[in-house]
Amino acid sequence: MTQLIDGKKIAAQIKDEVKYDVDKLRSRGREICLAVIQVGHDPASTVYVRNKKRACAYVGIESLSYELDESASEEELIGLVEKLNENEKVTGILVQLPLPKHMSEKKVINAISPNKDVDGFHPESAGRMCRGEKGMLPCTPSGIVELLKRSDISIDGKECVVVGRSNIVGKPAALLLLRENGTVTVAHSHTKNIKDITKRADILVVAVGKPLFITADYIKEGAVVIDVGIHRDEENHLCGDVDFEDVKEKASAVTPVPGGVGPMTIAMLMRNCVAASEK
Ligand code: NAP
Repeated sequence: MTQLIDGKKIAAQIKDEVKYDVDKLRSRGREICLAVIQVGHDPASTVYVRNKKRACAYVGIESLSYELDESASEEELIGLVEKLNENEKVTGILVQLPLPKHMSEKKVINAISPNKDVDGFHPESAGRMCRGEKGMLPCTPSGIVELLKRSDISIDGKECVVVGRSNIVGKPAALLLLRENGTVTVAHSHTKNIKDITKRADILVVAVGKPLFITADYIKEGAVVIDVGIHRDEENHLCGDVDFEDVKEKASAVTPVPGGVGPMTIAMLMRNCVAASEK
């Protein structure tokens, strides 16, 4: 029978663990405070920000909201980040992406102090991850590894294929699977004969950003399929990069959308908030 990898349940366990840690830290006099910055009113970003703030409230982390107008300048945003870097009360800073086109995401991310980089996107965090050193890990990729571990799916020695090579999902997911001793291949838009590659995977991670891209003919019998994608179909239902209905009989385990990788991203963010407060 195909195993449904329950990200919602595992994320809830992690948040309860974080809540316990936060309580313990508070009893020793340490408070954790996350500053969340949103620029503009992109509806998807508003939902993500709201969910992050809700998770903070649940685990006992204070969250401060900063909302800048769509027309705010890059200097204004960087100025705010710098002020928050210096604010001792603030232990973590999150700038909700994507930013408006007139702002450089790279410059803004680089402005965040690596000690407060709870998204794990700063080049120092990325470098540490690459070298296998202790540091802040990006939330979605570390959530994928945690999902596999807590579902008793071993990565060691497995053929892992990651479809997508973005800096926030595909590339770091590949590095973290490698860290867990997987044999990792990364496929992208220039990859030839992609089905031949995805069909090799014992563990297939899909972060391609195209609804229902992966169908049963892309996977081998018994593969574990992790779907990172999140989209709304014509009927406004959420769906992923994987055609869940098509692959579910052939895969040995699969993540649903919603309720798979998505909740893990927020749970791992809460974990990073605790880690940042220890710096
Ligand atoms: P992205 O920046 O658009 O990257 C997509 C990647 O897919 C690129 O590396 C691209 O290759 C590759 N690609 C595009 N078309 C392809 C094709 N036909 N064959 C093979 N590879 C192809 O997206 P992202 O930020 O990584 O996000 C991916 C998906 O995950 C999106 O649906 C996003 O909404 C979702 N997401 C979910 C969470 C969560 O918490 N669940 C978090 C982040 C993102 P090139 O590099 O060659 O262009």
